[in-house]
Amino acid sequence: MDKQEALRIFDQTGAIQNGHFELTSGLHSPTYFQCALALQHPRYLQSFCKEIVEFYREEEEVIDVVVAPAVGGIVVAQEVGRQFDVRSVFTERENGRMTLRRGFAFERGENVLVVEDVITTGGSVKEVIELTELAGGLVIGIGCIVDRSDGKLKLDFPIAAVHKTKLVTYPPDKCPLCMQNKPLVKPGSRSLKV
Ligand SMILES: [Zn+2]
Repeated sequence: MDKQEALRIFDQTGAIQNGHFELTSGLHSPTYFQCALALQHPRYLQSFCKEIVEFYREEEEVIDVVVAPAVGGIVVAQEVGRQFDVRSVFTERENGRMTLRRGFAFERGENVLVVEDVITTGGSVKEVIELTELAGGLVIGIGCIVDRSDGKLKLDFPIAAVHKTKLVTYPPDKCPLCMQNKPLVKPGSRSLKV
């Protein structure tokens, strides 16, 4: 899948919206990205995840389980797990801490692929990596649908990103869109912290 094809899907499904948005960080941005709007279509989810699977094709024999942080990453983990035909689990926050619940566990030495829908600062993914290693798993790599650091984020593992882009943000007092008096939109469900 080339960059244009991914962009076309994001545009067509409304995953990328252009305007003037206040992000959960409080920063303003000319674009808002809601990956779930693209991933709600199984055929797009499937083709995006195929890119991650192709990236790790040589490790196919050793991958035992795929893990993602809830909520956005769950469908990605499920589909990547399906394509590799391995287990797929997810982590959840409990009192702010990333945890494995529902009886999900890793056997000691299991090889784990960490996936996510959108990576911006890598915070959640780092927490999943820490948790995985504490729980006995061996992280072999990371996969995401969108890397909003434009490939600049470096973690200690390879990152397979289907789409790389730069997140443009402005502090509210230096926002050119505010200066143009463009109406400000606060999108998304703030309580879910997506
Ligand atoms: Zn603004």
